[in-house]
Amino acid sequence: MNNREGSLEAPTRHPLDWKSPSFHDREDCFAELERVFDICHTCRRCVSLCNAFPTLFDLVDESATMEVDGVAKDDYGRVVDQCYLCDVCFMTKCPYVPPHEWNVDFPHLMLRAKAIQFKAGTPTKFRDKTLSATDRNGKLASIPIVVHAVNKMNRMPAARALMERGLGVHKSAWLPDFDSKTFRRTARKSADVPVRDGERSPGKVAIFSTCFVNYNEPGIGHDLASILAHNAIPYVLVAGEACCGMPKLELGDLDSVEKLKDKNIPTLAALAREGYAILAPIPSCALMFKQELPGMFPDDPEVQAVRDAMFDPFEYLLARRRDGLLREDFKVELGRVSYHVSCHLRVQNVGQKTREALALIPGTSINTVERCSGHAGTWGVKKEFHETALKIGRPVFRQMAEHPDGAPAWIASDCALAGHHIEQGMESLDNPAGPRLAHPITLLRIAYGLD
Ligand code: SF4
Ligand code: SF4
Repeated sequence: MNNREGSLEAPTRHPLDWKSPSFHDREDCFAELERVFDICHTCRRCVSLCNAFPTLFDLVDESATMEVDGVAKDDYGRVVDQCYLCDVCFMTKCPYVPPHEWNVDFPHLMLRAKAIQFKAGTPTKFRDKTLSATDRNGKLASIPIVVHAVNKMNRMPAARALMERGLGVHKSAWLPDFDSKTFRRTARKSADVPVRDGERSPGKVAIFSTCFVNYNEPGIGHDLASILAHNAIPYVLVAGEACCGMPKLELGDLDSVEKLKDKNIPTLAALAREGYAILAPIPSCALMFKQELPGMFPDDPEVQAVRDAMFDPFEYLLARRRDGLLREDFKVELGRVSYHVSCHLRVQNVGQKTREALALIPGTSINTVERCSGHAGTWGVKKEFHETALKIGRPVFRQMAEHPDGAPAWIASDCALAGHHIEQGMESLDNPAGPRLAHPITLLRIAYGLD
């Protein structure tokens, strides 16, 4: 069963003109917002995708003129705040994206407005900057003596109430644990096996671990390394890795994105030139290198080289399979799996490679749910957005519970954060036994029978 929305056509995207002075001109941005809002008001196709469009349409419908010209410019920010840059309206829904002459790029217009807001300063700037400092938070919170205190506080209602009041993090939102045994510190060294390049898949891999896997769920990284080892693919970890920059992009903090780009790209570009496939096990991080950085730095050949070498892990494994180089000696049946395709994987336009890989496992039936979970990085944990995030995710929670073959044994999402958000949402359904949550990479490792 496949629950999906939108079409599969890949639109053309213009580079983000963020270095030009007009990009940061408030009046110029208002004029473009008014133009695009007017097209959206007439079209209204995206009303069910997220809360940005209903917010816009309510503002229009409740205005004196019932047109966009009746909406106060100061209210435009209310629409912008509801967009978490999932890119789904651009990539799968909108018929007016370039090359159409109307040139509608709703997410990048929201990004422009966020960048202007960020420079001007917002009341939630401290909270937003704190949440998006994933590297710094991870380094601090994974110090052995600190980690237990942080994890304990995340579960203490009193501490969470304080955190909600002081920091604006919703007291009921799921927050990740930190792990003092970070992935990058504890990853097993690759065996010295020969490189077997395939026609579609380089024979050696560089793992860009991502902040979340490194500091929060190192098991996903270890599982990926085990799968590569099982398939005799030598791997290295990317040296000196920093955050990919997606959390900063979502704030509109483009200068910080550039600083992080400058930290990561030289090393990654060297690996790309040496013929490595670079794997990032979190879709948002892979997307950053595949689409957002190339769009922000279209004339930087190193950024473009990294784009060409970057793979989603399952995209890579399926390319390996097409090259006849993937082992299919699965030992463990998974049973019923409800699998969620995250937005930032959908918009990579690589097809449903995770589903295809899980479908290779005998005794496994997959219920695929292709719709926004509402979590959206740090957006869904913020006090003012968490309830909306749960509302957006409700159809996903229901569809994940409704595996056509019976109650699912497993739930999985390529986006580990979305997976936890879905698990939290499903707890409110009438489903007391509850399926187990696991990342698809972990499911593949289990199916191989690897420790
Ligand atoms: S990018 Fe995503 S969150 Fe933003 S307006 Fe489009 S569908 Fe909504
Ligand atoms: S983004 Fe495109 S499809 Fe969506 S409401 Fe606006 S014009 Fe319509």
